[in-house]
Amino acid sequence: MIASSESTYDRLVAALRDLHRIKSTLGLLHWDQQVNLPPASSDFRAEQVAALSELAWREAARPEIGDWLCALESDPDLDADARAVVKRARRDYEEVTRLPGTFVRRKAEAGSKGYHAWHEARSASDFSAFQDALQEQLDLAREQADLLGHADRPYDYWVDHFDPGMTVETIDRLFSALQPELLDLVQTMTGSPNQPDTSFLRGFDVDRQATFVREVIGSLGFDWNRGRLDTAIHPFCSGHAADTRLTTRYHPDVPLDSLFSSIHEAGHGLYEQGLDPDWLGTALGSAVGMAVHESQSRLWENQIGRSPHFWQYWEPRYRVAFAGNLDGVTADDLYRAICAVSVTPIRVDSDEVTYNLHIMLRFLLEKQLFDGSLAVRDLPEAWNARSEEMLGFRPTSDAEGVLQDVHWSSGGFGYFPSYCLGNLLAAQLWYSLRAAVPDLDDQLARGETGAVLTWLRKHVHARAARFDTQALSRAVTGQPLGHHSLIRYLRERYLPLYT
Ligand code: ZN
Repeated sequence: MIASSESTYDRLVAALRDLHRIKSTLGLLHWDQQVNLPPASSDFRAEQVAALSELAWREAARPEIGDWLCALESDPDLDADARAVVKRARRDYEEVTRLPGTFVRRKAEAGSKGYHAWHEARSASDFSAFQDALQEQLDLAREQADLLGHADRPYDYWVDHFDPGMTVETIDRLFSALQPELLDLVQTMTGSPNQPDTSFLRGFDVDRQATFVREVIGSLGFDWNRGRLDTAIHPFCSGHAADTRLTTRYHPDVPLDSLFSSIHEAGHGLYEQGLDPDWLGTALGSAVGMAVHESQSRLWENQIGRSPHFWQYWEPRYRVAFAGNLDGVTADDLYRAICAVSVTPIRVDSDEVTYNLHIMLRFLLEKQLFDGSLAVRDLPEAWNARSEEMLGFRPTSDAEGVLQDVHWSSGGFGYFPSYCLGNLLAAQLWYSLRAAVPDLDDQLARGETGAVLTWLRKHVHARAARFDTQALSRAVTGQPLGHHSLIRYLRERYLPLYT
């Protein structure tokens, strides 16, 4: 790098770090709202969030940033890391500067209106009460895609927005290959007479659940000195490498949900903690996108957390922690309950096998909504028909079908595919990890996951956002995203339990 562009680069990085400080403070306010906020304080909190959001927008849209980016983009001497920082910063800068203020305000208003309409429609299980709000969200989403530019079609913008480098065509190809093999597997499992018994999972003391969850998460390497675990209505992970916030929830009758949601969120947290805190706000201290983030949470939750070897170590400890709950339940019974698979109407209640079908259904419908081949008013019927075709049942109500997810109420299109793409990547990472750590099963049986974290740190976390989704997959697993590893993993893990 030449001296003058280095100082321009330094100024850009300093501005990005400052912007991250503001945005992460906003994130902390959102976390606090879910975890701590007294009910009568929510109006003032909304004012705080609005003021800080405006400040963040002003900082992000500073014209100097545009000047620095132009200067750096025409500098042939920038190294690869600096180019990655500039590329990511350009993407963010376009997003804040190319949307007119009137559009941003319309979108914010439509977002809160949409959420309330969805909430009421879902309570009444009546899609017609949400139809207009959804139409508005779809129009705004198309408009935003046109304002910011997209590959072939407006839906491409949203897919790329959450997973840089991804296109609708690529996802179409992946899902079309995955679907028949997955359906075949699900049919074999659900048709088997050999079904697990989960009836003993009742009345698990929540304090003991909380203690056990902390023990497991701590053993995975979550750093409590720069992270926390609290309770909230919905589990989530927020924050960054310097301060990572996890939430979970406990219910006496769904102890495995608490445990695996917590491991899932810890997987997100471990990714954040593996990013370089000195480069927060830049591509060198950021996650690639949602699919890669989800690959981390899924790998810990499923490939590791549902491994029979992992449970060889944890089962005796679980038995001690919940003495009385597991009388007459064998280690095998418990493990089979952990890997229980059944088709359920609700996505968030589904297991790791059938979950992917729920995602494909949503992707298909989003694609049709965007290309105009499906009208919003026809969505409930399309949902029910697809559900029958892919999951084997028709929802009995809108609440159980098309209204079950919050995402579309505030314009969250293009986000669903990331969950399934994350599962594909997690399975590929699993086989690369196993090749790199040949005695992995023995290590897991001893309760040791250090080699897993070390491998992920080196191959995924340390790369931050230097690569896009597919390039990262190729760099770490030798291949772009595909469906073979996921099918192989699901067969290896689940078929022995169901035949
Ligand atoms: Zn997640």
